[in-house]
Amino acid sequence: MPSDESIYCYHCRRYHPREEMRRIETKGSKKWRCINSIEATKKSTTQRDAFGKSVTAINKSDSQARIKSRVNAERLVAGR
Ligand SMILES: [Zn+2]
Repeated sequence: MPSDESIYCYHCRRYHPREEMRRIETKGSKKWRCINSIEATKKSTTQRDAFGKSVTAINKSDSQARIKSRVNAERLVAGR
């Protein structure tokens, strides 16, 4: 076996050294994809998730602040 064996990466549409490749399963067929592209996808997914979570957190704290101010207003009314 030649050590410089390269495998076609369907994601980059080019050949990479075998040690940079991972075999992944897509809809019943097995394809080769390089670790770099897998990691890049993972990273962008994580960033998207983090963004989505921070938006959710902002929305949550916003509505909590609104609830709190409403409760305070009700207290003021009740205190009279
Ligand atoms: Zn690749």
